Amino acid sequence: MDWNTQLIEDRRNLHQIPELGHEEHETQAYLRQALKEAGLEPQTVAKTGLMVDILGRSPGNRVAVRAEMDGLPLVEDTGLAFQSRHAGRMHACGHDGHMAMVLAVARRFQENPPEAGSVRFIFQPAEEQHPGGALDMMADGCLEGVDRIIGLHLQSPMPAGQAVLHPGAMMANSDRFRIIIHGRGGHASEPEATQDAVLMGAQLVAQLQTIVSRRVPATDPAVVTCGAFHAGSAANIIADSAEILGTVRTLSASVQSQIAEEIEHMASTITALYGARADVTYTRGYPAVINDAQTANRWAAALNGAVQLMEHPPIMGGEDFSHYLNRIPGAFLLLGARPQQYYPHHSPHFTIDESALPIGVELLWRGVQALL
Ligand SMILES: [Zn+2]
Ligand SMILES: [Zn+2]
Repeated sequence: MDWNTQLIEDRRNLHQIPELGHEEHETQAYLRQALKEAGLEPQTVAKTGLMVDILGRSPGNRVAVRAEMDGLPLVEDTGLAFQSRHAGRMHACGHDGHMAMVLAVARRFQENPPEAGSVRFIFQPAEEQHPGGALDMMADGCLEGVDRIIGLHLQSPMPAGQAVLHPGAMMANSDRFRIIIHGRGGHASEPEATQDAVLMGAQLVAQLQTIVSRRVPATDPAVVTCGAFHAGSAANIIADSAEILGTVRTLSASVQSQIAEEIEHMASTITALYGARADVTYTRGYPAVINDAQTANRWAAALNGAVQLMEHPPIMGGEDFSHYLNRIPGAFLLLGARPQQYYPHHSPHFTIDESALPIGVELLWRGVQALL
């Protein structure tokens, strides 16, 4: 079987056996078997993950290539012949394609080992589950002796043949907050005896919108969204408490911390005006994916003719590849894979244009060569 046919077959086989984070046993067994058949001896990492090194003819840098292994809790509705065989589980983010591509790159390096240096192939569990399998992989030493790391993500909104790779922020810090306002309820005709949680909540929602417009530098992108506001039960009752749920997206660590502090400050100040109080829970999600400039530039310079590099602002979604990038230099690339009938990632109809897969193999192959 030629390597291109094998690539598509691997992707389709993996597509049929999606598993949730930390449960990737069948997926791990498939990858282990494929790597063994290629003459490699993969090592178990983070229970359901794998890693394996391919050494060059002489010592040098070590470059890691990473793929995520997990699927999502979805009932697949694509009608594909190779649809999921696992009830309520689906590869709806493209991780099946990522694994097949990294496997293909490993086979290619096994046949043509690098002149100098070495390549580490990392198959990581649980990208979709906060706090993310990257942390478990690193705790098990997957970055030990690694100089740089690269990875990519298929992007269904962008056509195959296009990619995004640049220094700096590729994806955002993705955080959540929950505010509970503790007021004092009472009769609607006697407001002086109450602390009105609806009024305080309404003022707070409006005030939170001044964080981005009046507190954060205009040059630093940020989003504060209050997605839910729950309070009150009837027209003639002053609400006792209110709950506000929201999300915060930022690109820099300093603005991320600033916004977390501002939310806390505004919630306590506005409720204090009425003698009430608020509890704020701010939960940090994955950190922003920030590409190392040297790695991104060297990789991009090697991609001439293989793909069309597009200008694109950072995507405000999250990825736990950022944990690796916070430890060592590296870069993450977004690769177009828009199918004829487009559905977003994490949709039960999600699929990819498989013609993106050989492109991804070439990009990763060239990336490793350029960085060794
Ligand atoms: Zn996803
Ligand atoms: Zn993903």
